[in-house]
Amino acid sequence: MAALFGFVGLTAAQRRTIGPEPIIQASVEQLVRLFGDKARTPVATLYKDWAADALTATEDDLIAAGHPLPDARPWVSGDWSPVLMLAGSETSVTNPGYLEGAAEAAPRVAADIERIWQGLPRRSASASTL
Ligand SMILES: Cc1cc2nc3c(=O)[nH]c(=O)nc-3n(C[C@H](O)[C@H](O)[C@H](O)COP(=O)(O)OP(=O)(O)OC[C@H]3O[C@@H](n4cnc5c(N)ncnc54)[C@H](O)[C@@H]3O)c2cc1C
Repeated sequence: MAALFGFVGLTAAQRRTIGPEPIIQASVEQLVRLFGDKARTPVATLYKDWAADALTATEDDLIAAGHPLPDARPWVSGDWSPVLMLAGSETSVTNPGYLEGAAEAAPRVAADIERIWQGLPRRSASASTL
């Protein structure tokens, strides 16, 4: 099985203006550079721009805001803070928005959950009730 990965260096507004055809054409040309002439006639191409999907993106999502800056302030405050934890990369205090941030944020929240779990009162059960 092959896997391909690439980036489209156009903003949502630029993609909206030029439409899908030039992007599909540029993608095919890149595949030709990578794999040779046979790639010039793909069986099919499928173009999906999630930014243009009304059920996925709002107008606010069309503005690329970049990665968040590292910030040690808690993301959740008030009554929710003991019960709602955010484990996504964006909440990393070192590399938000990157894989490294995900690898930092997830174990932090796992440790928080473990700490809460350990602090919960335990009910003992005899073997006969298990
Ligand atoms: C195109 C692209 C290129 C990138 N390139 C780089 C790069 O070069 N270097 C880099 O460091 N980072 C890169 N990143 C960013 C990096 O991939 C993310 O920061 C990282 O994967 C975030 O990890 P996460 O665990 O926070 O979230 P995710 O990896 O998004 O994991 C969230 C998981 O939750 C699941 N999920 C969502 N909703 C539910 C639900 N209701 N129930 C159950 N499961 C659910 C999702 O399916 C997903 O598996 C890239 C991201 C993209 C999209």
